[in-house]
Order: sequence, then C-alpha cells, then structure tokens
Amino acid sequence: MLAAGDELARRITRPLRMLLFGAAALDKPGFVHPLQYALAWLSGQEDILLKDETLRAFCDVSTSLAALDRITSAIALELRLDPVDVQLRIAATAPAWREPLILAGRRRLAQGRHDDAIDFAHRALGLMSACPDASRLLTDALRAKRGGDDVPDLRGRFCSRPFEVLVSTQTTRWSASSDANETVMGESYLCDCVAWLPFSIGNVIAAESPDAIWNSAGAQEIRRSILDGDFRYCSRTICPAILNDTLPKREDVAAPRLRDIIDENRVVLPDPPRLLSLGHDASCNLACPTCRPSILMADREQNERLDAARDRVILPLLRGGDSTSLRLTAWGDPFASRHYRSIIEALRDDAYRGVRLFLLTNGLLLTRKQWAAMPHLAERVVALSVSVDAATKETYEDVRRPGRWDVIEGNLRFFGELRRAGNFARDPEGDVSDQVTGFGIYFVVQSSNFREMPAFARLGREIGADYIGFQKYISFGHEAAAYSSKDVASPSHPDHAEFLEILQDPALRDERVTLMQLEGLRIDA
Ligand code: SF4
Ligand code: SF4
Repeated sequence: MLAAGDELARRITRPLRMLLFGAAALDKPGFVHPLQYALAWLSGQEDILLKDETLRAFCDVSTSLAALDRITSAIALELRLDPVDVQLRIAATAPAWREPLILAGRRRLAQGRHDDAIDFAHRALGLMSACPDASRLLTDALRAKRGGDDVPDLRGRFCSRPFEVLVSTQTTRWSASSDANETVMGESYLCDCVAWLPFSIGNVIAAESPDAIWNSAGAQEIRRSILDGDFRYCSRTICPAILNDTLPKREDVAAPRLRDIIDENRVVLPDPPRLLSLGHDASCNLACPTCRPSILMADREQNERLDAARDRVILPLLRGGDSTSLRLTAWGDPFASRHYRSIIEALRDDAYRGVRLFLLTNGLLLTRKQWAAMPHLAERVVALSVSVDAATKETYEDVRRPGRWDVIEGNLRFFGELRRAGNFARDPEGDVSDQVTGFGIYFVVQSSNFREMPAFARLGREIGADYIGFQKYISFGHEAAAYSSKDVASPSHPDHAEFLEILQDPALRDERVTLMQLEGLRIDA
C-alpha cells in the first residue's frame, strides 16, 4: 500500500506543480489528463480496496474517487475555490472522465441540491452505464428528492440468477507490468448481463476447476447479498427486474431447488449452473460502432489458453447434465470465433445430449451450408437470437459494419424457414433457464435507427420470428464521447419526443415485441 501511495504521489506531482501558476491549470488538458491517467493507474491496482469493500466491479473507480476527492479538496482549499467548481472545471476539461462528475454530485446531494446531483449522476452513467458509484449517486439523489417513491425497496425480494447463471466476458484492465491497458479474457459474473451485476467472481479461463469458479468466495458473497436482501451488487439503474419491479417476494418462490436455497441460506451450490453464458472471446466478423472500434480476433496464444480452459472447466460444466443451457455468445460471434466453434463441435458427442444451446449471433456466418455441416445443431439449439439493429440496407450497413444487408436478409428468411420446419421450438413446459426459446431478432435502439423500429417489428412478423426485442443502447465506455448523441432514450436527447411517439406505433404493440428496458418509457409516454 505504501509503495502504491509513493507511486501515486510520483505520478501526480508533475501535474500538480502546474497549479503553482494558478487556477487556470484546471482548464488545461496538460494538467487534467496526466491526473486522470495517474488515477486510472490507481483504479487498476487490483489489490487495493477501500475499507469495507470485498468485491470490485469491472468498471470500479472507488479508489480513484477517494483519491480525487482528497486532491480536489486540497486544491480548493489552496486556491480558495468551491470544491464542486474545481471538480466541474476538471470534468469540463476531460469530458469522458466520470469521477469528477460523481464527486460533484455527491457534494450537491449533501447540500440538498438534488436536481444537480441527479444531472451529474446521469452524465456519469452516460459515460459508463454499469458504474456502481454513479448508479448509487442517482438512486440516493432520487430517494432524497422524492422520498424513495422511484427507488424500489428490495428487502424481502429474491432473484434466482446468481444461483443459476455463470457468465464470462472479455474486459480491459490496467496491467502493472506493462503500465497500460490489456485485454483480460474470462472474468466471470453471476447475472445475464455484466452491466446489471458488474462485480467479478473470478476468472473462468484461469480457474483450476469448475467448482473454483462456480463456488468462489466472490460467488458466495453475491449470493449472500441476494439472500440477505441488500442486493448491494445489483444495478438499480439498469437491471430490468429491478426497474420493472418484477422480482418475486421470498415467500412466493415455489420451485423446489430455489425454495431449498432460500430456506437453507445456501451460498455454496452442489449442482452446476443451469445457464452457462460465454462471452470471453470477443472474436467477431463485425465491428459495430456501438460495440467496438475495429474487428477483433483472438490470436494463437489466446486460442491456446482458451482451448485449455475449454477442456479443464467449460466442457466439464456441461458434460452429462440434463438441464444445462449454454448461451453462445454474450459477446463476439459463435461462428466467427475459433474457440466457440470448437465448443459447438464438441457438443456433437452424446455426453452433451442434454445441453440446450442458445445461439446469439449476428447471423451472417450461419448460412444454409454451415447449418447443413453441423447436423447436431438441429437437436441442440433451442433458441436462435439474431442481432440486426436495422430494417433497411442503408442503416444496417452503417450500424453493423462491414455487414451486408443482402446476406443478413437472406439468412433471416432461411432462419424463418427453419423455424417453420420445427426447429428452435418454444418449450411447451415454459422457457428454459428463464431464457426465451424460439427464433428472435434484436435491435439496439440508437439515434440512427429508432425510426425503423416499426418496420423492424413488421419484418420480424413477416419472417416468422417468435420474438422481436428492442434494447436500450448501453455505454460500455469505448464510445463515451458519442454516447449521449446516440442515446435517444435519454430525455435530454433532441429526438427523444419523436422517439416516444414511435414507441406508440401499433406495430410495436405486437405480442411478439418486447421493449426490455424501454418498456417504462412507453407506459409513461
Ligand atoms: S442485477 Fe437484477 S437480474 Fe441480476 S442478480 Fe441482481 S436483481 Fe437479479
Ligand atoms: S455483431 Fe455483436 S459482437 Fe460483433 S461487433 Fe457487432 S455487437 Fe459486437
């Protein structure tokens, strides 16, 4: 800790010297950017946690917030300024840096200026939707302003997901050895979407055994937070179950396995996850601007590590189970990734007969020929979800680069044929692992495509999709500067009123349509 403190002092000394020339330095990138860089380094030190913290979110900034709070307080004192002014001037100089906004929001909240605090929290969430500190600021400010009416009380509620779901991802993290950001494959989480519950329980690629990840200390702590009813790791600003108030009361949970978990307060689980959702290999044939700036493919060294983890942890989690679901892929594309394709190939074996495969793909590589080359897919695949994001060639080829509309349109019609022939059948006993089965198409709503939402719903109906999903565009940080101009669901977006009108279109009232996080906007409109 002392070494880290010394290193931080070394890193911030030079920019802080600029303050000898007065407060004008606060408006200069030459002061602010080195400070931001030094605190990003601090956030990347995995072994430094704040007192009382046990888990870290993938987007954790708690340590840099604490340090920046002290630094800006000291600057304000020295220059005889209001600390909030210091923080807002820094935020204006580094518009993609959320820590000064969160700090300014906390101070405004303490002063009773709730609207300011809410505004700063929204701006910080616009830079990183999953940020627990910005999310906490927003809920605290809303609670203070409206007496808690808008903030659900989760005591006595239950969520099954951390007892059923294991999700792996690929993230970027600071490396102490290279002193730069590096890609980390395999950080793992206990909810369907990493942004909803952004605290890692370990790494599925590094784990020595299936149990070492599924019942890790982090997994046990998250399950405790659900059983105790504090839900402290769940995002109250993104999780649809919290936003739509659909979490069941503990006493209403009837499923025998879950009843036993609640009654016995179980945080260590003897059975494997019911849903394994893999997203640790980002390899994809597309580079959608909402997702990444360029095409990513795993290299040979990465593929070797992925293959070892496949044999040591992933396939053992799936082998022999009769109620395990596998979702490929939460990130990347299952047919563009060499690693995921090898897992799909392994499922040919009878040992995996009980595995139900949920495919989430951009659909471009799943051609008639590919389908014919993998005949076991017809037995294993219970859901085919295709992310499309457009209803016209012009928009598709803009938001799904370098995808081609004629290819995806032909493939979508082929998937409709497969569905009509009896593939991806809806589960008559109810959907599997709370995942929707059948054939569906998805659409991430943004400023460039929202006017095509009704046409997309009609397209889905025409090709025979079972469900047509519209998702809110969520910021994962890489598009921070452009996010607010694309997030048409935000009340501050100039096209928001037109977007609310489009939500009233009769085509979106189709029973196959689901608006997910956008549902509340239609009800309120
Ligand atoms: S984030 Fe939402 S869905 Fe996920 S575990 Fe928490 S309450 Fe459940
Ligand atoms: S298809 Fe999916 S994984 Fe690939 S770049 Fe687009 S959003 Fe990302």
